[in-house]
Amino acid sequence: MSDFRMETKCVQSGWTPKKGEPRVLPIYQSTTFKYDTSDQMGRLFDLEDSGYFYTRLQNPTNDAVAAKICDMEGGVAAMLTSSGQAANFYAIMNICEAGDHIVCSSALYGGTYNLFAHTIRKMGVDATFVEPDVSEEELNKAFQENTKAVFGETISNPSLDVLDFDKFVKAAHDHGVPMIVDNTFATPINCRPFEWGVDIVTHSTTKYMDGHATCVGGAIVDSGNFDWEAQGDKFACLTQPDETYHGIIYTQKFGKAAYITKATAQLMRDLGSIQSPENAFLLNIGLETLHLRMARHCENALKVAKFLQGHEKVAWVHSPALEGDKNYELAQKYLPNGTCGVITFGLKGGRDASIKMMDSLKLIAIVTHVADARSCVLHPASHTHRQMNDQELMEAGVQPDLIRFSVGIENAEDIIDDLKQALENI
Ligand SMILES: *Cc1c(COP(=O)(O)O)cnc(C)c1O
Repeated sequence: MSDFRMETKCVQSGWTPKKGEPRVLPIYQSTTFKYDTSDQMGRLFDLEDSGYFYTRLQNPTNDAVAAKICDMEGGVAAMLTSSGQAANFYAIMNICEAGDHIVCSSALYGGTYNLFAHTIRKMGVDATFVEPDVSEEELNKAFQENTKAVFGETISNPSLDVLDFDKFVKAAHDHGVPMIVDNTFATPINCRPFEWGVDIVTHSTTKYMDGHATCVGGAIVDSGNFDWEAQGDKFACLTQPDETYHGIIYTQKFGKAAYITKATAQLMRDLGSIQSPENAFLLNIGLETLHLRMARHCENALKVAKFLQGHEKVAWVHSPALEGDKNYELAQKYLPNGTCGVITFGLKGGRDASIKMMDSLKLIAIVTHVADARSCVLHPASHTHRQMNDQELMEAGVQPDLIRFSVGIENAEDIIDDLKQALENI
């Protein structure tokens, strides 16, 4: 981790050119890398030397961007993935196998809920979902002998629940398992989960980190703090020999980088969900202004939330940044400088009014996206979450009339004017 402050890390971390090298991080648009002798290459395959040989495993552009995100989160090692979905899948499957179990907050992104409730279950990994406001006692009851991790989102998409880090981290550690947190909505600008004891952080870099809606991507960052060897039996995958690499033991050979090295050497090798170097290049440009954009997203979102709160046709507004919101206290504790640009609201006319209002918007677009520079709206019950039944929707904290509004970095008055005219139409 560098000693620079966050703004400097956003701009400068990851790529430090040497004499005569490009000032800007280049796109290493190459599948392969050259060596002089057969032995040099052989040592790479044995993980005896570090170096590039094939972009599915590592690429210099991707590594520089991963290093920047790692520095911003305050971790020890990081990797990029092709998407946020791949990041969360890898983060879990790196330490779970058939017969294992995870505990997760039910306030989750729809895709992550499907992944945990259905897809990994078919692979033999079970998930128990707990309400974000679960009591400590109930949370402890969710653990089993075979539990390997606890998972939550810093600010959940789209229910906007703020994770009670103290409660979830304590339960995870009391049961000898790591706490994994998806920090997509907060970004390291507004929250650094490692400072609250979280062990592993994931991101959909598709959202604020890219910030311009140009590329899908993900990242996994390890704090290096979880003591895998202290739980050696539970995490034999890290503390016992890997026969596919001549019996190396990840914790012995790679120390604090064991978890990310294993995820790269096994999961990325075998499943291959890499981020393209070109996307990593675009992501890096996005990261350079993340600190500026997050501040404006949060400022605009609060203005828009307050406008909606005062409008006669609006039934309810959620934003953890709004005083009186059920997540306000947690947001003040864990994200005192700002939360995110996403807010949710419902109209007095219910589901139909929500749809009519959205269809009347002119500046604000209906898109399946959040967290980019342009303001956009989505109706999860008819779009992202339409595969869920009503019970699953409620479990994920998504009311049927909920409009998810990703407030962009345009002029706040223009955003509000567009909302005003659309609300007049219903
Ligand atoms: C979008 C999102 C994901 C999935 O990321 P993709 O890049 O779309 O695969 C995961 N978690 C959260 C919180 C998200 O918002």
